[in-house]
Amino acid sequence: MRDKTLFNYFGRSIKRLVMASFVFVLLLPIMFFLHSLFQNSWHQVEQKMLEKHQLISEALVEPLTLFVTTRQQSLQTIGQELTKLSNEVAVVLGKEDKRARIQYILDTHQKSFGNFVALSYSSTPHSELSCISTAPPKQPGSNKPDYSHLKLTGLPAAANGIEGQDAMSPVFASSISGKPVVLIQHKILNQHSIVDGMLYAEISLEHIASICSKIDFGGRGHCAVVDNIGQVVAHPSPDWVDEVKDLSKLSIVQKMLAGQSGTAEFYSPALKTDMVAGFSAIPKLGWGVMIPQSKAELTEMLDHFRLNTLIWLAFGVLVALLMAGFLTRKITRPINRLIRRTNLSAHSNNTMSIGRAPDDTPSEIKQLWSSFSNLLTGLQQSNREIKRLNLSLQEEIEIATTELRQANKDLYKTSTQDYLTSLSNRRHFTDHLEAILEVNTGHRVGIIIIDMDNFKQVNDLYGHETGDIAIKHLATILKDCVRNVDLAARLGGDEFVVYINDATDQEVTAIAEKIRQSVQESPLHLSGLSLSLTLSIGTVNQTNEGGLSLQTLLSQADKAMYRAKTSGRNKIVSHPDKETSPEKPKQPQTA
Ligand code: GH3
Ligand code: MG
Repeated sequence: MRDKTLFNYFGRSIKRLVMASFVFVLLLPIMFFLHSLFQNSWHQVEQKMLEKHQLISEALVEPLTLFVTTRQQSLQTIGQELTKLSNEVAVVLGKEDKRARIQYILDTHQKSFGNFVALSYSSTPHSELSCISTAPPKQPGSNKPDYSHLKLTGLPAAANGIEGQDAMSPVFASSISGKPVVLIQHKILNQHSIVDGMLYAEISLEHIASICSKIDFGGRGHCAVVDNIGQVVAHPSPDWVDEVKDLSKLSIVQKMLAGQSGTAEFYSPALKTDMVAGFSAIPKLGWGVMIPQSKAELTEMLDHFRLNTLIWLAFGVLVALLMAGFLTRKITRPINRLIRRTNLSAHSNNTMSIGRAPDDTPSEIKQLWSSFSNLLTGLQQSNREIKRLNLSLQEEIEIATTELRQANKDLYKTSTQDYLTSLSNRRHFTDHLEAILEVNTGHRVGIIIIDMDNFKQVNDLYGHETGDIAIKHLATILKDCVRNVDLAARLGGDEFVVYINDATDQEVTAIAEKIRQSVQESPLHLSGLSLSLTLSIGTVNQTNEGGLSLQTLLSQADKAMYRAKTSGRNKIVSHPDKETSPEKPKQPQTA
């Protein structure tokens, strides 16, 4: 349901549709990208960086090993000379001479090699040093170096050496220079391969410190070297170097001392921060070298990179949306223009065209435009034709309506009027009276029935046409005598009826009398003929209080009229019997 609403929303205009398509098309790769950015590949990037650290540490293994090995070799060279001397001594030299010769050799080599803090000799492994050559020269009164407390571990044999001949100490502070040094011990063997003396060399670690100091990156990225018991050999902190800081508690140091290489995270209690590092063991020396960096710094760097990527991504999306907007406009603008023009054209005078599509309109819309234009032209033509037809149809309808109205009028007339006199006919009179009697109005209803006296004679004597003229003559007089509220009708032949609306008996009689008198006093003049006519009239006048029947009223009036006939004609008789006698009745006469 929700989806449907969403689709409805985007489906409502091309603009929304195209924009949504762009967004959806973009969304998928963006989601993949973001997923890889924040998950797998990002972790890989982090890992890669640490591997780089480890590679650097690996690259340092060789020079550090070489540093010790070259010094070991130098010591070996001195050792060879001392062996030679030892062999000669056995033959020629006394003890003092031998000591002087050894001292000389040590001094000579101390000068020529120049990289030993001290070169010493003792006749047996555990005896006191008998010869010492130092650089700087040993201060008078300073203590003689004592190496007996040092725990030496064996070094692999140097170039021409014998396995087990050399050993090396952990880092310690030199009693001569006061600086950290390591001690290399070289056994001097006589021709029978029996130990004939011990050669010692204190080696300055400054060169290693200088190599390591070159590795300095970021805020806290550095290089550190530890000896075989986890003490600092080289470190950017001079204090740690000077105090020969013990780092053996650090997990990473323990890994290196166990001969492992790789990458690791560890907490540095000294720096009070989480660190990450690449590290390598230096197998020949039992040392370790690591390239640590603050984890926060690495994360910060990665976050910065991530932020940069996101900014570029957002910029890309923005550009894509702008492009989408621009492309959408290319579609919607001509369509909107087409709609506007079409609307204008539709509401104008029917002749306005929508014109041509602008040149930069896409081809499909151009085709649509041209189809619209053709369609509109056709529609306009049809519209004009329809209007024309409409007009003529309207005229025809008007004529037909007029004719129909006339026909209706005629029909009404025919159905309600008497053809000869144009008075109401019997049907219309009956309908009218029945409608009046239906409503209990309390008004008086008067009926006057009129019959011409001896009319048959008129026909017989002067012809039927003259009879018609006489009937019409009577009708004209009737029209003049009745009021607008009354209704006169011809019942048939020479018999007429008048309805008198709400009049007293006297008024009804007066009207009847007026009719009778008018006819009597208006003889019909026809080409030398003067025809006097008389009427016999019966009246009735009742109050309409319900229950009045037209039939009864007509019958009562008719009976009254009949009594007028029988009692001499040319008179009025009212129901109930009440006769109005005129002057002496006259017969129809000719002039
Ligand atoms: P009475 O005084 O008793 O009424 O005698 P009358 O001759 O008038 O008798 P009645 O009213 O019965 O006769 C009516 C005559 O009217 C009969 C008929 O020939 C004549 N008549 C009926 N309709 C027409 C008509 O439309 N035109 C003409 N000219 N005569 C008609
Ligand atoms: Mg008559």
